Formats: sequence, structure tokens, C-alpha cells
Amino acid sequence: MNTEGRETSLKRAAELKGRIDDYLEARKEIDKGLEMQEALEARKKKILELLGGTEEDWKDYHWQLKNRIADVGTLSKIIDLTEEEKKQILEVGKKFRWGISPYYLSLINPKDKYDPIKLMSIPTYKEMEDLCNDFDPMAEEFTNPAGSITRRYPDRLIINVTNECAMYCRHCQRRRNIGEKDVSKTRAIIQESIDYIRRSEEIRDVLVTGGDSLCLTDETLEWILKQLKEIPHVEYVRLGTRTLVTMPQRITEEFCEMIKKYHPVYLNTHFNHPIEITAESKAACERLANAGVPLGNQAVLLNGVNNDKYVMRVLNHEMLKCRVRPYYIFHAKHVAGTTHFNTSVDDGLEIMEYLRGYTSGMAIPTFILNAPKGLGKTPLFPDYLISRGRDYVTIRTWEGKVIEYENHETKDIRELIK
Ligand SMILES: *Cc1c(COP(=O)(O)O)cnc(C)c1O
Repeated sequence: MNTEGRETSLKRAAELKGRIDDYLEARKEIDKGLEMQEALEARKKKILELLGGTEEDWKDYHWQLKNRIADVGTLSKIIDLTEEEKKQILEVGKKFRWGISPYYLSLINPKDKYDPIKLMSIPTYKEMEDLCNDFDPMAEEFTNPAGSITRRYPDRLIINVTNECAMYCRHCQRRRNIGEKDVSKTRAIIQESIDYIRRSEEIRDVLVTGGDSLCLTDETLEWILKQLKEIPHVEYVRLGTRTLVTMPQRITEEFCEMIKKYHPVYLNTHFNHPIEITAESKAACERLANAGVPLGNQAVLLNGVNNDKYVMRVLNHEMLKCRVRPYYIFHAKHVAGTTHFNTSVDDGLEIMEYLRGYTSGMAIPTFILNAPKGLGKTPLFPDYLISRGRDYVTIRTWEGKVIEYENHETKDIRELIK
């Protein structure tokens, strides 16, 4: 290499590093579950003591489910709550259920009123303000052709198999389904859904979700997967679950062994903040990845939780280290009782702007706005195509350089190669 080339390259390399100096600085300040091991361990001990559980219990998801914390008295012994907060939780709890697994509760910094995990899991009075008064902006009630299906697309659909979750997210966009009781769909309703899929040869992709699909027993899940596998036009199945995040103990070796029999099975989960990536949730991701399940993450942009270009970049990097590919970032819909979590569309676009180019393409999910009335997922991008003429397009690069680029019409290959 000539010296001039090397010099130019070194200069450019320094300039490139400069593009992420702000990120390298900012990421030090962002809490990460994997760097909080000691604090998490201490909180776990405290919770176990309070609940009278053992280390073995902690690892057992049945225990985690059975011991969900859902009363203010127990909660206030673990995290600091003001009298006002206690009153609000009690009041809101009468209208919207809440419940948090001991594991997920241990992720909350008990001293931080605005802890992101707390915002996602502990009710506040804001939930009572029905600012938009709409529990079903996606019109899911009108897209159910059979059983418990939601169908909005030509070749794929959702089967809702339960309304149960390991933890009731305060930002839940389907809160109208969550109700006060855990109701798995009956086998008859699930059977009706599967029969519809069997009759509909154009359906090649089935999402099994809820609620949380992994709140079903392995036995019921296997009963569903087995039938879907026998339908020739179903090419693969996707499971939707947040248990990797809220109750990673659910991902047992037995579950992984069972899934292996029904490949291709994909799984999409819902990590929103780097705090949620702990030794335990990471190990759950690894068990699934080792069982041959490709993992994706669907984050939701939430005000005060993750509407920050640095937090999102850290999250996506941490996900890839757990063998989870960032898949979507959703703009939060306007659902009654969750509007305090809403961000502007600009927040999402800014996050996307500072991913492309600044980090691996693999770390870049698609930013999605769900069109109202169930009209479908709509991707939004920063503008890279500035104008489009017949002979030229004008593009803007990730660093903001504006460039004209020649455009030619596509010629018939048989005319070009004779
Ligand atoms: C999100 C969703 C899907 C899956 O969409 P992908 O873009 O393929 O991930 C399918 N059906 C319904 C009803 C959905 O809401």
C-alpha cells in the first residue's frame, strides 16, 4: 500500500471512531443486568426470605408463577413505595390486574422511583386516565375468522392460545384480553383455530401467542405443535412469549427437547431494556438457541423506559450477544390506560437514524407503526432517498452526505447477452 493510501485510511479510521465517541461514553451510564449480578443476588435473597422460598424454588417456574407478587403489602417490603404510590397501586389494582414474578421483581432498583422495570410492571394512577378511551385500536375483535385467530395478512395469522402472562406489563397493548382471571383457550377453541388453518391452504406461517404462549403447559403446546406440523402447507411456527424476560426459568431442558421435534420453530420475545438481560435470561436464550430455535426480539418504544438512541443501541448489541436477532421496534399504540408510555414517532425515527451505519446491520430492527383498525404493520424509515428522477436518484448516506446516483432502466437480460 502506498503511504498516501495508508495516511488517508488512518485519517478516515479516526473520523469513524469519532462517530461513536458519544455512544462509547453514554453506554457506561446505562444499567445492564449482566453488570448488576451482585445487586440482583442480594435482592433475590431478600425476596426468597420474605416468601419463604429456597434457591431451588427460585429455579422452578411453577414456584415463580405461584408466588407472583400481587399485593401492595408484600411489594412495599421489597421496593420503596410512598404512601401515594401504595394508594394508587391499590386503586388501579381494582380495575387492572397486576402481578410480577419474584424473578422480574428482583430486577427493580428498590430506591429508584423511575426505574424502567418498575415502570413496566407496577401500576400507576396514569392507567386510570382513559385518554383515548380505546381498548382495541387494532380492531382485533373484527379480524377473527374462526376460533381464537387474528388474521390480518394473506399468508400468516395468529392463534391466541391463552390470556395468561408471567407478568402483566403495564404497557400491554392487549389489556382488554387480560381480564381478572387466567383463561387458557379451551382445547375446543384452539382446535377450531387449527381446523381453520388446515382448510386455508394459503396460510404458511402460524404465530402461537396470547397472552404468553409459554403459559400453556408443555403438553398442550406439544398438542398444538404436533397438529400444525401435520398440516402440509404450514411451513413453520412462531411462538410469542415474554417468559425469557419475565420468568426465564420457564425455558426448561424438557421444553427445549420437546420443541426440537417440531422444527422449524421460531420464537420471538420482548426485551425492552438492557437491565432485563441477566445471567438467567441470557442462559434461557442460549438453551433455546442450542435447541435450534432462531430467536428474535420485538421491543416496544416506551416513554421513560427505552426511548433513547443509546439505550436501544446497547439493547440490540446485548441481544446479539445472547444470540437473539433484533426484529422489530414498535411504536406504542394509543391504548387506553397506557398513553403515558406513548412516544412521538420522531423518537423512533431518531433511534433508527443512529443505528444504520453506526452499528452492524444485524443490530438494526425494523421500526413499525401499526396502522389503525388492523390495517397492518407499516415500516417507517429515516429518509435516505431524497429524490427520485428518471435518470438520477439523490441519496443521503448515514453520515448525511448527499449524493446523486445514476439510474438506468432495467434491460431484458436476453437482449444484453445474445
Ligand atoms: C404481527 C402480526 C403477524 C406477523 O407479522 P410479521 O411482520 O410477519 O412478523 C401476523 N399476524 C398478525 C395478526 C399480526 O399482528
